[in-house]
Amino acid sequence: MKKIFYKLIIVFLVVQVGYFAYSFLFDRDNEIISSENEQVVEEIIIPEKTDRIESIEITEGSTYGSLMEEMDIGGSVYMSIYAAAEDVYDLVKIRLGRELTLVYDKDTDEFKELIYQIDTEEKIHVRNSKYFEKENEEIATSSEEVSNYWFAEIIEIPYEIKVTTKEGEVKTSMYVAALENDIDERAIIELANAFQWSIDFALDPRVGDTFKFVYEERYLDGEYVMPGRILAGRYINAGEENNLYYFEESEDNMGYFDSEGNSVQKMFLRAPVEFRYVSSGFTTGSRYVAAFNVSTGHRAIDYATPLGTPIRAVGDGTVIFAGWNSGGYGNLTKIRHNSTYQTNYAHQSRFAVSYGQKVKQGDIIGYVGSTGFSTGPHLHYEMVKNGVKVNPYNEILPPGEPIKEDNRARFEETLEEYNKMLE
Ligand SMILES: [Zn+2]
Repeated sequence: MKKIFYKLIIVFLVVQVGYFAYSFLFDRDNEIISSENEQVVEEIIIPEKTDRIESIEITEGSTYGSLMEEMDIGGSVYMSIYAAAEDVYDLVKIRLGRELTLVYDKDTDEFKELIYQIDTEEKIHVRNSKYFEKENEEIATSSEEVSNYWFAEIIEIPYEIKVTTKEGEVKTSMYVAALENDIDERAIIELANAFQWSIDFALDPRVGDTFKFVYEERYLDGEYVMPGRILAGRYINAGEENNLYYFEESEDNMGYFDSEGNSVQKMFLRAPVEFRYVSSGFTTGSRYVAAFNVSTGHRAIDYATPLGTPIRAVGDGTVIFAGWNSGGYGNLTKIRHNSTYQTNYAHQSRFAVSYGQKVKQGDIIGYVGSTGFSTGPHLHYEMVKNGVKVNPYNEILPPGEPIKEDNRARFEETLEEYNKMLE
């Protein structure tokens, strides 16, 4: 027994010694590693030279020239930049609230690049050839000097795209449902715009309607910036399913198609007032507008919107009347769309078109008012078919252009993919 006990002690000691020896070596290794780390850290501390970047905000009353002067850029330089940019972007058009960014070279501190974000999609870069290679030889330059000139390039903003799916249920309005579900307001406006030929968001929504949609979210350097394109949408209105899918049929025909592959764009928009002007309140439609009603003699649809709300033409056409109507309509615009249809827009506060003018679908033709026989600001909208006032909601319009047969298979694939995401 004793022998076994001693053996165990010896084994125990060997293990202990081994452990200490190992720990000792291990610790030494750690020390070596950490001292190496310190050396690396010291190397990183040496600052790397970077370009100096200055931005100036475009304020009320400032101009491109005044801002450049404020940044101590000489007239000959900023005029050269202006001339170089002119062919691709007119710097006179810079917008209030945005900024001009000036880049100074890290070695010479010389001003070498002007950057301006034109819109959500693009930036213009005007660069000095001394510091930048001109990639596209076709680009116009400000001077004939080969050694040192300014040249402009439009560069698409490189958003990172994340595809997301959101949904909601309408208790008061789609707009409110979107906010309740943490959906970016701009995305829901885009969704409503995609449905603008099939749903009137002032009148159609019912409590219990549901919607679900797939869209792109745009990020820059990991930060969410804005919604991008709506890829697919489903709105179930009073039990009826409305679907749309984004599809690129060809380079010059891309847009939204329904489940049958017909373009969602139709001859008339469903409403003469845009979604964002009718849906921001706690409204469920019927309370908000007076509907078409033959028995009361109200052969029109009334949109109760704030004074000054833009009114849009529901379809392409020609203005056949824009003036005062003493019969109660007040300021009235009439648009003739074809030999069958005409639309009228009454009680306007002011006009945006005049007699004889051609208009496109969606063009602003005037602003909501309360002129004529009217008790408060609203738009009285009429549709006339072959001389008779009709309810625009009952007009069965031909479907939009179908996709070409050649693209049918590709469309079906797209449809299937999006439908999975909408389930
Ligand atoms: Zn009315």
